Amino acid sequence: MNPTHDPERQSWVASANRPGSAFPIQNLPFGVFQAPHPSANQPTLGVAIGDQILDLRGCSVAGLLTSLPAAAVAACGARTLNPLMALGQECWSPLRARLSDLLRADHPGAPGHQQALGPHLLPMAEATMLKPAVIGNYTDFYASIYHATNVGRLFRPENPLLPNYKYVPIGYHGRASSILVSGAGVKRPLGQILSTDGAPPRFAASQKLDYELEVGFFVGPGNRLGEAIAIDRAAAHIFGLCLLNDWSARDIQAWESQPLGPFLAKSFATTISRWIVTMEALEPFRLSAFARPPQDPPPLPYLDSEHDRHAGGIDLTLEVYLRSARMRETGSKAVRLSRGNLRHLYWTVAQLLTHHASNGCNLLPGDLLASGTASGPRDESRGCLLEITRNGLDRVSLPTGEWRGFLEDGDEITFRGYCERPGFVSIGLGECSGIITESSQPGAVSP
Ligand code: MN
Repeated sequence: MNPTHDPERQSWVASANRPGSAFPIQNLPFGVFQAPHPSANQPTLGVAIGDQILDLRGCSVAGLLTSLPAAAVAACGARTLNPLMALGQECWSPLRARLSDLLRADHPGAPGHQQALGPHLLPMAEATMLKPAVIGNYTDFYASIYHATNVGRLFRPENPLLPNYKYVPIGYHGRASSILVSGAGVKRPLGQILSTDGAPPRFAASQKLDYELEVGFFVGPGNRLGEAIAIDRAAAHIFGLCLLNDWSARDIQAWESQPLGPFLAKSFATTISRWIVTMEALEPFRLSAFARPPQDPPPLPYLDSEHDRHAGGIDLTLEVYLRSARMRETGSKAVRLSRGNLRHLYWTVAQLLTHHASNGCNLLPGDLLASGTASGPRDESRGCLLEITRNGLDRVSLPTGEWRGFLEDGDEITFRGYCERPGFVSIGLGECSGIITESSQPGAVSP
């Protein structure tokens, strides 16, 4: 850890110092925003500080970043985070240190900084947040053994966990083009759905629309095709974390996924949160990896390291909230569906990244890898409705008297994520939310 994690450090941006702020000066997550002014509305890199966004292009043009490597200054002027992601820790770390110095209240130059940075601060409420990177590839894993076991139990009660699970991190290649940023509507998908009466499948709107509570992580510097990433080098290839909702149509999934796995049941939409929290900001919240019980096999050597066993976990609390259209109309607060923690993942983010590249597959800056549904050991930490309602059987009651087995049109799902540790300032990942909208009529096509 370093002075940017100092719990005493406060910002002259007052909202950053409020207890419960997701974005204190110890966080400094990156995103891409668009300002409302027509003269300056091109996509711009920004850093969240309290309820404000610091415009990185503005800072670099104003000469406030000249102490940094030239490549880092240039990357701050880009329209996506990909160039910065490609540069690695040698550039990320000095940039974070410089931004922390510019924003801290007790810096000797603070009055000057405040004056110089003033024109480059924008209230978050006025900005539109865009996709933070060009995401060339998206991969979704299945790293929670609790999720894998709960789901397995629904469909194979006699044999819930398949024998490969404890050896190989399971994943599939997802769809990058349909990744949305928090706040965008999610249209209920149409697809082939099997009836229960043995009739042939029909093409209709999904009736089993679900969310999956996940964490995504962005690849920083990639690896060359044919070259792997050693487990102890994995951290150098990870830029940061976001919340991720892997929307899933369970009825479409049940029929189409044999034998090749997820396809149209997942590819219609994936929502990510607006800000990427860097691995450096998460440093105080690292802990040991999942403690495998003695009867479990140890990871194969290429997925095993002393450091990853000791500090590969992340202590990140994850919550899911639902608010229906009727709850909004009647002023009802959202209900919490679950609360869990990323520390319960069976595989660490380093193991997932190393495994992905282990066959020589080249990862690229801006590629997105996701954890899989991050369920924990307790009933209250189940990360999707498939698990919570046991495939729609045990419905959840809402304060309006409504019931939910799966999601209805108008339902809003919001994820929240935050890290806490005594002696440190709590940081947040912000929110990841989306409202379900009505499906198209079957047969409707783009002109
Ligand atoms: Mn998933």
